[in-house]
Amino acid sequence: MDDVKTTKAAVAADGSGAEKNEALRYNPAEIEPRWQALWDAQPDLYAAEPHTSGKPKFYCLEMLPYPSGQLHMGHVRNYAIGDALARFMRMRGYNVLHPMGWDAFGLPAENAALKNNTPPREWTLKNIEQMKVQMRRIGYSYDWAGTEIATCLPDYYRWNQWFFLKMVERGLAYRRSSKVNWCPQCATVLANEQVVGGCCWRHEDQIVEQRELEQWFLRITKYADELLDGLDVMPGWPEKVRTMQRNWIGRSEGAEASFHVTAMANTAPIKVFTTRIDTIFGATSIQLAPEHALVKEWVKTDAKLASAVEAMIAEQKAARETGDIGNIEKHGVATGKTAVNPFNGETLPIWVANYILADYGTGAIMSVPAHDERDFEFATKYGLAVKRVVAPNVDTEGLALPYGEEDDAVLIDSGEWTGEAVLEAQEKMARFAEEHGFGKKTTTYRLKDWGVSRQRYWGTPIPMVYCTNGHEGVKPGGVVALPESALPVLLPEQIEITQEGGSPLGKVPEFVNTTCPVCGGPAWRETDTMDTFVDSSWYFYRYTDARNSSAPFDSEKANYWFPIDQYIGGVEHAILHLIYSRFWTKVMRDLGLIANSEPAERLFTQGMVIKDGAKMSKSKGNVVSPDLMIEKYGADATRMYALFAAPPDRDLEWQEEGVAGISRFLARVYRLVGKYSPAVRYIEKGVRGDEISPEQFAGQTVAGAALLRTLHQTIAKITEDFNGRWHFNTCIAAIMILVNEVYAAEAAMDSGEVDPATIAELLRTLTLLLVPFAPFLAAELWKDLGETSDVFQQPWPVADAELARESEIEIPVQVNGKLANVIKLAADADEKAIMAASLADEKVAARLAGKTIVKHLVIHKPSGKLVNLVVK
Ligand SMILES: [Zn+2]
Ligand SMILES: [Zn+2]
Repeated sequence: MDDVKTTKAAVAADGSGAEKNEALRYNPAEIEPRWQALWDAQPDLYAAEPHTSGKPKFYCLEMLPYPSGQLHMGHVRNYAIGDALARFMRMRGYNVLHPMGWDAFGLPAENAALKNNTPPREWTLKNIEQMKVQMRRIGYSYDWAGTEIATCLPDYYRWNQWFFLKMVERGLAYRRSSKVNWCPQCATVLANEQVVGGCCWRHEDQIVEQRELEQWFLRITKYADELLDGLDVMPGWPEKVRTMQRNWIGRSEGAEASFHVTAMANTAPIKVFTTRIDTIFGATSIQLAPEHALVKEWVKTDAKLASAVEAMIAEQKAARETGDIGNIEKHGVATGKTAVNPFNGETLPIWVANYILADYGTGAIMSVPAHDERDFEFATKYGLAVKRVVAPNVDTEGLALPYGEEDDAVLIDSGEWTGEAVLEAQEKMARFAEEHGFGKKTTTYRLKDWGVSRQRYWGTPIPMVYCTNGHEGVKPGGVVALPESALPVLLPEQIEITQEGGSPLGKVPEFVNTTCPVCGGPAWRETDTMDTFVDSSWYFYRYTDARNSSAPFDSEKANYWFPIDQYIGGVEHAILHLIYSRFWTKVMRDLGLIANSEPAERLFTQGMVIKDGAKMSKSKGNVVSPDLMIEKYGADATRMYALFAAPPDRDLEWQEEGVAGISRFLARVYRLVGKYSPAVRYIEKGVRGDEISPEQFAGQTVAGAALLRTLHQTIAKITEDFNGRWHFNTCIAAIMILVNEVYAAEAAMDSGEVDPATIAELLRTLTLLLVPFAPFLAAELWKDLGETSDVFQQPWPVADAELARESEIEIPVQVNGKLANVIKLAADADEKAIMAASLADEKVAARLAGKTIVKHLVIHKPSGKLVNLVVK
């Protein structure tokens, strides 16, 4: 402690140096649990102020986890990003909502129940407790008391049921028959993830069948256009996510046309969807999906066709499972049948092709090889005719096919439309088809209505019953919606999960048997439960009013907090969750519950945490346990490393040596503050950067001024990064540089050359800068510096541009030899920076307006630098 005593201010210290010496060893295992206990004892520590507070709000949200029982490093990183932002915004004076909850329904709980004979509810709640312990240990600033929700509890899922009834009322929820995966041995429906290589996960040799079942759907397609068009005005969402959603919705404008099958008067005509009705004179075949209704008929009497079609269906199914349907190798088989082109009466062969999907468009296309790459490839392979009907002008000599241009092109060999421009022809020909009853203008979507029925136990019961005997307007066995007063429909808690013999709820008579709410006669309940994506479609609204027992939330509260200012989660949720929750938002808006049309202003998708080049997974044996890292290096070092090792949008390769490095850095900070805190802890505040007086600054020694400069440059950098790029790795690097500089100035500080007030300023500000990244250490250092207030409630330091400024130089800028202005720049600015600054200068820019720069030079003279711009 001798070095401390040499500082002048140390004379005033309180003589606790001896204990101090022991404390100079950074020991997160002692520091962190101590603070955690203090924080846990204040349940409203991170509570947001009421929506009436009048403060600007900031809703910071990370995607809620599935309670598997163990946090993984991906969670640690995701929440470290959100927590840094939430803490920063609080210090900036915002009213911050930073909630957390549990996406607690789902299949794993049923699988675990089957395996361990533990009821799903018990298993899930135990996992939640375990993960909460981990999250508290890491020190995330969640308002647990005010916001925590678990979607598997009735106080949450009753509102799923309430929304469902609202949707039934409005025709947004409906029932129809649809295909499901079925294992005949289990005698039950399988989720997609229970189908492994086309077979049952429990019966490896059992091929999974497709069965038709009555299921519930939500009419998301009603909002297809709004969901699509909204993407154009969501600048705060990553472009890749918006592109994925556009493709998922898959809107195409075009026309339908009907082709009659030759010599089959009783067969319905084949409807094709095309975006290029203008090329219909160039159609040389019709291609049907293997699952097209006509094909199903024809295979009955054509064994050869039947086996080819069966193979194609299997091929499509496999390609769908691997997500490779777009790259499927194209092939087909001729049916021997023909159809008639309604525009010109030509007869075209009908084929079945493996790349035509039954659920896109009409499941049939007209093939126009001359003007479509895919059709061209197919026609070439099978020697089908290629007939050009569009060209840049009537002279088509030497023009390659296929030709796909639309702008400026005209129709040729197209009857009365010959010579028409492509876009006009599309309009006119669609209208012609409509007038003559064989087609119409139409729009198709790839997006389908959302099937929400699951033949599972661990989900929200669907609040519908079937009236056994029927009553007026409802036939026997007809479906009846429950009244709101019957909610919640509780999920029975004690249930035997067998995953055999149909829906688990169907085997609980106390659940199934009920009375019809209309006629009072016997009825049975719907035994399907809701898709768990329903739970996550609106959970973030519930956070704004999580304890409301009479409504899903209070509209005034939601309208204050929404839209979410920053949503953070994995890109794997780009389509399902993020489309469903946008849909749900629009439905709630139309119900008059909220004012916003989109849930989140900004979306951030973080990269993955990988190890040895691969995603962490049990099967690869490369999982790094957060608990182990925390035990060895502390929570601060673990979370700070997660922010430091890569920019948050990139993948992060976990290296334990890096965590150790961060831990050593934190130990250096701890030692530094510990060494000087006795000397500076009684120095009054008021030397903050934004308050520093010109006299105080003028009185600085060179060493003191240099430290203050680096400090304020660091504040500026971190503040800017939080507002924009989120390159926390470079923020943390900047703090490291600052700490190195302070260490390098140790002699000057010890000798009194840097005065104690400046040291106090340095150490206090450094501590505040650490809050978003290492909250435990920041709290400890703040106390160590003699502060009794809560470090998290302190205002974020403000960078003083004067203090941050480097010694500058002046550079004259000439345009065509005449002085335009003199710019000021950092002494060490390079040529690129000098040129950029010259061009950005207003006066210089005014001289350049409307002219072209032919030459630019930075001239180095003994007297200094000069910029010369030659323009014409
Ligand atoms: Zn099975
Ligand atoms: Zn009834």
